[in-house]
Amino acid sequence: MGIGDRFSHQGVAQLRAIVKANKTGLDISPVWNKSNREHIYVHSHPADVRKEADAAVAVLGFTGKYFVDADHINLGTVAPFVETADFFTLDVASFIGKESPEADVKAFVASCGKYLGKLAIPGIDHPIAVTEDLLIVIAGKFLAATKQASEIYSFLKEKKGTGNFITEVSMDEVETPQTPVDLFFILKMLADKGVPAQTIAPKFTGRFNKGVDYTGNVDQFAKEFEEDVLVIDYAVKEFGLPVELKLSVHSGSDKFSIYPVMAEIIKKYDKGLHVKTAGTTWLEEVIGLALAGGEALDAAKFIYTNALGRKDELCAPYADVIDIDDSKLPSAEEVASWTSEKFANALRHIPGHPDYNPNLRQLIHVGYKVASEMGTAYTDLLKKHAEVVGACVEENIYERHLKRLFNL
Ligand SMILES: [Zn+2]
Repeated sequence: MGIGDRFSHQGVAQLRAIVKANKTGLDISPVWNKSNREHIYVHSHPADVRKEADAAVAVLGFTGKYFVDADHINLGTVAPFVETADFFTLDVASFIGKESPEADVKAFVASCGKYLGKLAIPGIDHPIAVTEDLLIVIAGKFLAATKQASEIYSFLKEKKGTGNFITEVSMDEVETPQTPVDLFFILKMLADKGVPAQTIAPKFTGRFNKGVDYTGNVDQFAKEFEEDVLVIDYAVKEFGLPVELKLSVHSGSDKFSIYPVMAEIIKKYDKGLHVKTAGTTWLEEVIGLALAGGEALDAAKFIYTNALGRKDELCAPYADVIDIDDSKLPSAEEVASWTSEKFANALRHIPGHPDYNPNLRQLIHVGYKVASEMGTAYTDLLKKHAEVVGACVEENIYERHLKRLFNL
């Protein structure tokens, strides 16, 4: 379970939610994930995440496995994470579609001889037609990206030693989803190049907007997700990839309409799953501050009002992963009159609640830069109201996420 935390104050509250779920017999490992982009925006350092994780584990006496994830790194950004992370998300999305030497393409196609014709993947009821042309197309899309993954992996292996870290390969930040057949050959390429991927993040069908529910065809997602799970199971045996290899769902928080689907499928095949969340915890901080009232409610209102005034600037880096209807954003004057409850209800993700406003929620999601600029004025409020804020963070992860993801 990826539990990113923008300002590194909610580690204990996040871990409390996981401890609670594990008491039901589950074995969930917390993974504190933070990308280079987030570190830049909030002026934090990779070592801060390690400190937060170790401290939370010590406070609660947590004895399970836990990890610190260098999220979305590449060869240019990985170095500062090497010492303190033990989970690396190799982002190779920008290499998809880059040209590879003709000899590499030929060698790949030649190595796939046994899959030509009708590829039958156990559990998938329709055989997949594999032609040489299809293999050339797939090589054109993914050979360079998987080569890049192997270069980052080699760098890490050299620095940290084999087996001392988890390898995730991510291709999610692109327009076009990867199909299950793409995934099968991507896994073959990774195995061929010696990348022992333990989690893989494809781009799934549908929209995974930040902090709000999934938008798309749930039935189509269900079919694709199930086929991906079966492809992974087959690829593990076929290519000798790590047996724990699992799907990773990025921007995975708040996707309530597909949680039951994923829960059912991983249960059906007894598989694992990695879900990354981050922004959802930052939103709970703002909810907690609103509920605390007084100057804390004023700060929550300031964050919204300031973000509203700088909407274009704050939304620009997230243009592909948010959908805000401007006409449904409340004005600064309106929000100024809100009570604690009204503000919290507008922001809290309770689908169907009359006050819930996904537009306001998405704007505040990208507004963490405002809180970052407030500096200690913001973090002092987090410290002062740690109890109410922590209760919101824990409730959100346990009640709204883990319960739905694992049928608790
Ligand atoms: Zn991602």
